[in-house]
Amino acid sequence: MICLGIESTAHTFGAGIVDENGNILANEKDVYKSKEGWGIIPIEAANHHKEVADDVIQKALESASLQINDIDLISFSQGPGLAPCLYAGLNKTIELSEKHNIPYVGVNHCIAHIEIGRLLAKQNDPVVVFTSGANTQIISYNSGKYRVFGETMDIGLGNALDKFGRSAGIGFPAGPKIEKLGRKGKWIGLPYVVKGMDLSFSGIVTEASKRLEKGERLEDVCFSIQEVLFSMTTEVTERALAHLGKDEVMLTGGVAANKFLQEKLSIMSEERDAKFDVVPLKLAGDNGAMIAWTGILAHKSGYKTEPGIVLPRWRTDDMNITWL
Ligand code: AMP
Ligand code: MG
Repeated sequence: MICLGIESTAHTFGAGIVDENGNILANEKDVYKSKEGWGIIPIEAANHHKEVADDVIQKALESASLQINDIDLISFSQGPGLAPCLYAGLNKTIELSEKHNIPYVGVNHCIAHIEIGRLLAKQNDPVVVFTSGANTQIISYNSGKYRVFGETMDIGLGNALDKFGRSAGIGFPAGPKIEKLGRKGKWIGLPYVVKGMDLSFSGIVTEASKRLEKGERLEDVCFSIQEVLFSMTTEVTERALAHLGKDEVMLTGGVAANKFLQEKLSIMSEERDAKFDVVPLKLAGDNGAMIAWTGILAHKSGYKTEPGIVLPRWRTDDMNITWL
């Protein structure tokens, strides 16, 4: 079975092709870029996706040396995400499905991040640290669902760094720049906000920005904001790991690139005799291959898709996991 996966939840339109052994035959994308200083404008991103869709899909078919008739299944990101962007993916899916008589399945975008991670990092039953721009969740499988054991109560970890970066005038995306600047900084003390198993980042961002205005060195604030945000994330991960008695930790999402975060989680995992892996960065960001692979898992296990709709607020713990 060969599956074409379509990703369109936010800034990325992706088309990936994967076979049922987990071989990635193609993974193409085109990313919408907003104007300087702006976030994603949903309608603009959706128009971008509509414009590039056919080209990106064609490129994926070419790089896999396949034709659309070789595709057995189409999988698309049904949610969560920006509604206009999700519709761009759904409509393209339905168009191809009807024209070429190919069945389709809709999968949860966050679960696709987990499944491509498990495939590539060779993890079986991990505690997953999923930290992208918009999302931060500590997730693990239990009784038919991927359960969220802890999460941000406001903004995602990546957005927290980007927001601080905007106030510091260091441009977008700020994450990699904050990492670099932080290497030359020292601890200046910032608030630490873990409530039960949940995290709150936005107040810390405000405080960090104020500290800059008061004249603290940018390098020191960059070091300290990472120190506090990543320690909080590691604390909640450690508690989930201890509670569940699992022995694998997997880090994914765009912020997984950060070496400070990797180091904290790696030390904690080692102390608890858990295997720690970072999902290869090429596939840790939004992409079509992860949607294709999750589509194969779902379809083969008899998962039922609600046809013709998108689910902008679809939670990770709301999808029935029929394949585990
Ligand atoms: P995603 O939403 O998964 O595409 O991830 C994008 C987010 O990852 C943005 O908020 C970036 O600032 C963040 N990011 C990328 N590289 C790094 C890094 N080295 N350190 C911290 N954050 C990063
Ligand atoms: Mg994502």
